[in-house]
Formats: sequence, structure tokens, C-alpha cells
Amino acid sequence: MSSGTLTIDLDAIVANWRVLAAQTRAECGAVLKADAYGTGAARAARALARAGCRRFFVAMAEEGAALREALGPGPEIGVFAGHMRGDTDMIGDLGLTPMLNSLEQLTRHFESLPGHPFGIQLDTGMNRLGMEWDEWAAVAEVALAQGPALIMSHLACADEPDHPMNPYQLDLFHQMTDGLGVPRSLAATGGILLGPDYHFDLVRPGIGLHGAAPFAGGHPSVHLALPVVQCRDLARGEVVGYGNSWQAQRPSRIATVSAGYADGILRALSGRLRLWHGDRPCPAVGRISMDLITVDVTDLGEDPEELTLIGPHQGVDDLAAAAGTIGYEILTSLSPRLVRRYHAA
Ligand SMILES: *Cc1c(COP(=O)(O)O)cnc(C)c1O
Repeated sequence: MSSGTLTIDLDAIVANWRVLAAQTRAECGAVLKADAYGTGAARAARALARAGCRRFFVAMAEEGAALREALGPGPEIGVFAGHMRGDTDMIGDLGLTPMLNSLEQLTRHFESLPGHPFGIQLDTGMNRLGMEWDEWAAVAEVALAQGPALIMSHLACADEPDHPMNPYQLDLFHQMTDGLGVPRSLAATGGILLGPDYHFDLVRPGIGLHGAAPFAGGHPSVHLALPVVQCRDLARGEVVGYGNSWQAQRPSRIATVSAGYADGILRALSGRLRLWHGDRPCPAVGRISMDLITVDVTDLGEDPEELTLIGPHQGVDDLAAAAGTIGYEILTSLSPRLVRRYHAA
């Protein structure tokens, strides 16, 4: 096989969900947008449903449709984008629960799907999605009369526990929702870790299910192994790859592995990436190309059949730090070309 193998540990995803659920008295849902952060929403959803998760969230109605197919009737599937024009049939037929973000969406929903479940998304300062103070004040009475399933908002700085934005948004959420008698949700992974004041009735972890920051204590959900296509000897002074960016300072053995930036191994990692053969690190050398990465295996003293890129010695947060990004982007960049294998006990 010449593609990389992304092994997804469904037991780890379920174990992380259980640990997060145990940190709160609120109900614990699961956010499976972007194909469960690149790991495969259908498999993750079924594993989590078996573990007792009853509320799922996605970004878009299309993702909700795929999730409904995987889950069957029953579990609630919330759509953060709300009720967009053109989504009415999908929302109605598949029983999705749009988180309505504006008066426009509210009107569309009540006119096209009267009596169909919905939630409300409020903006408490992030200025991204949801109704702001004035808009909510204007429509709250009408919306509440229709019996929303949930009122939610989202924290902008929850991964920085001491950030003053956290108590600010908490206070505003209280002011906008206290006494309404509707279930409430404010916390994603970072918000869970801020403590019970932030939990309300339902928490919505996404990245935490994958054991990545800010949930440092979690189990990693993915392992990525890349096959070695070819090994070659270089004399001192020979160069490797596009732009000749690496030159052998000694007689070297170079392994070429079958994966590159088209698989989501960001090109910005060129010169900063290590791959692992068991416990032994091997530096990637030269530029990362679309389909290939060259690795200095001189010190191994043998030619490996494959090398590990994400594993026990290098997690998604390590790659993120090396690339100047976040674990979320590393995970969601992992391309469909990588063969997914699922591991569950
Ligand atoms: C992505 C997202 C989540 C999950 O966030 P994590 O940081 O991955 O736990 C929760 N709520 C909303 C509105 C989101 O967009």
C-alpha cells in the first residue's frame, strides 16, 4: 500500500468523552463538525451514541444529513449555521435542529417548518454567530413562545482561563437568558475546563474528544504511519528535494515516504518535522512536496518499512507548535487520501 494509514482510536474518543462528561453535572454532547475533526463523523457518532451521547452538533446542514444517516432517528443533531435558505427540506426531512442566528432565520424557520424543533444562538461578544442583545430583546417573546430546545452561546477565549473575556461573556449570557426556563449551553472543551459556572445544562466538546489542547489530559485519537517508498545513499555534499534546500554534511541514507502537503502535512513544517521509527526520531530533510517527504534515516542503521508521523512521541499539538498553528487545523487538514482504519476494542 502506498498511502499513509490514519488509525483512529474510537475507544480513545469515547474515553475522552466520558472523562469530560464526568467533569460536569450538565449533559455532555459532542461536536462532530468537519467530519469529526477529520477522523470520520459516522464512526465517531455511532461509538459515542453507544456510550450514551444523545446530543450532537455540526457546523452545516449537509454534515447533519450525513450524521443522521449514520445515527438513525433519535439523537438530536444541532446545526450551528442555523436555518439557511435552501436547507429547509434537509432540516425538516432529517429532523435536524437548527440553532437560529438571526431574525431572518427565525422567520424562515417558523414560516417554513412550524412546530419543528430549533435552538437559539446568542452572540455574547465574539461577533461571529448569533443574535445580539437588541435583536434578542426584540424577538425573545415570539421565539420563546415556540419552545426552543436550547439557547446557546460560544466563548471566544476559553483556552485562556484568566482572560477577562470569559467572565464578561458569562455575565452577558446570564443577563440574556436567566429565568427563561430553557436549557442553556455555553461551554465547548475550553469552557468545560473553566469550571461549573460555565457548564449550564449542556456542554459541547469537540477538540477534547481527540485529546488535544486545551484538554491536555486526554488520549490521542489518531496515529499516522507513512510507508517508505525508497531509500538511497547520498555522498557528502549532495542535495535533496525542491530548491536544494538541504545538503548532506556527511554520507547519508535518505528514505522517501509516501505523503506530503496534499495529505495535510503542512508545507510550513519543512525543516521542522521529525518522523519516528519506534522510539527513534528521524529528521525530515528538504522541502515537503505534494506527495513525498524525504527523511534522514542514516542513524537508524536499517531501512524502515514505514515511519510514524503522529504517534506517542509526536502528537497533533507538537505538530501544531512546529507549524505555528493549532491542533484543530492539523487534524482537519488530514486529507481523505489517507486511508482511515478504525480501532475499537
Ligand atoms: C467548534 C465549536 C464547538 C466545539 O469546540 P471545541 O473547542 O472543539 O471543543 C462548540 N461550539 C461551537 C459553537 C463551535 O463552533
